[in-house]
Amino acid sequence: MKLKYRVNPAQKLPVLKLRLRLIGVVLIALIPSFVLIIVILYNLRTDLILNSEKNVYQISSQISSEQVNIENSTSQLMTALSQVPSIQYIQPESCDRQIQSIISRIPFYLNLAIADSSGNVLCSGVTLPGPINISQNQFFINALNQSVKPNGKYSIYTQLTIGPIVKKETIIMGQKMTFINGLSGVIYASINLNYISGLTKQMAMPQNSFVGIVGSGGTLLYDSSNPQSAMVGGQLFSASQLSPSTLAANDGMFSVDGDDGVSRIYAATPFGSSGHGSIGYVVVGIPAAQVDALPNHDIKLTILGVSIAALAAMLAAWFIGARAFGSIQQKAISDQLTGLLNRSYGLELAEREFKRFQRQEEPLSAMILDLDFFKKVNDTYGHQVGDSLLIAVADAIKEGCRSVDIVMRYGGEEFLIVLPNADRLDATEVAERVRIKVSGISVKAKKSNLIKTTVSVGVAEANPNLESLDQLIANADEALYVAKSNGRNQVRLSP
Ligand code: GH3
Ligand code: MG
Ligand code: MG
Repeated sequence: MKLKYRVNPAQKLPVLKLRLRLIGVVLIALIPSFVLIIVILYNLRTDLILNSEKNVYQISSQISSEQVNIENSTSQLMTALSQVPSIQYIQPESCDRQIQSIISRIPFYLNLAIADSSGNVLCSGVTLPGPINISQNQFFINALNQSVKPNGKYSIYTQLTIGPIVKKETIIMGQKMTFINGLSGVIYASINLNYISGLTKQMAMPQNSFVGIVGSGGTLLYDSSNPQSAMVGGQLFSASQLSPSTLAANDGMFSVDGDDGVSRIYAATPFGSSGHGSIGYVVVGIPAAQVDALPNHDIKLTILGVSIAALAAMLAAWFIGARAFGSIQQKAISDQLTGLLNRSYGLELAEREFKRFQRQEEPLSAMILDLDFFKKVNDTYGHQVGDSLLIAVADAIKEGCRSVDIVMRYGGEEFLIVLPNADRLDATEVAERVRIKVSGISVKAKKSNLIKTTVSVGVAEANPNLESLDQLIANADEALYVAKSNGRNQVRLSP
């Protein structure tokens, strides 16, 4: 028997199309979750950035308030010193010694000194290199020319300048005092800006942060990361960035590329009093990348998680969906009892084969099988035994047929087989094989009786005169009738 094996496209389920469709459905179902997650991430990111900005601002305020503390304690110290006899009387040597011992104990003073009303320095913690006059310094002029406050105290005047004795950039705080002879003078302290570097070390700032003191004109006066070269006075921030109106408009925050090329978010807090507003700003900057790093990390993790979930859903659609569809599809086309093709789907496939026969004139045959005296089996042993016999017969038919044959349960105990590419001889051979297989079946009934059965088969080959599949089946049916009336358990061929 020569056979061209081909896969009948109708017997292949449209799985790929279904899988893609299911994945599409999953993706559409995921859209609201994606949107929600994006909104949540956006809010999270905004919150985290706001928090970082708040931190920067807090650090700068903290340093600035530290500066105010220093100012206050310096004011108290200078008021107390003004009342020490050796200082009031200006006995140069003991005055110098007294001040030396104070600045050696308080690390943030570069120097403490006293000048008379003409600006001549009378007494200093740091040894004078020669006669020093500070009458031109703004803090001196402001401090000396003030009148006493109602509480009998003097205000303190601050200036960011090069210390006249220490020759370093410093915050100088000056306060008026009165000597024992009734003349006025000024006592002043130079603050060591390095104290800021000490403060920032305790604050665990992120890498590449900036902490510095900037004059109100935008000039960098102190950079805690580089205290040695701090006093170069390089221009870091433009005056407009640090102008009170800009800072007020931005809550003291601004964002700018530093002169080292690092983009930072800065917070500036004013400090000191020169008599005309603040003398400068404590400026703290945290690298913008650092501020973004945390939210970006969270966002990456969330996106990864969502992608994995989406992938899992798509894989589920791909495998489980196709399997579920496959089993539904299988049920729709097969006979529940025997698992063979059911009549409607079997006939659908048979129609296609008949059309192919009409086009190509390749041989095509059909055969009908009917169990012999099956009613008797039911009547004697019951329907359930009849059913198991039907199942066994279906298996035997399937075994006896070729893989390309279309085998369907046609009626109660009748089976129709359409054999593509088989002429009458091929079909008779298959029919005979099936008949013998069926006759070999035995099924157990109650009381361990073994029940056997036989089939009668009618075979017909299609010819060009046939107009429809129905005519071919009718021919096979006629042959079956002949087989039945001739004594059953035999194959008969339609003429
Ligand atoms: P014959 O040799 O002339 O074909 O005799 P028969 O007894 O088989 O006669 P017929 O074909 O007319 O009877 C068919 C019987 O098959 C009738 C019915 O009781 C039985 N039958 C049909 N479908 C089923 C089924 O699904 N299960 C069981 N157990 N019996 C069925
Ligand atoms: Mg019948
Ligand atoms: Mg029968």
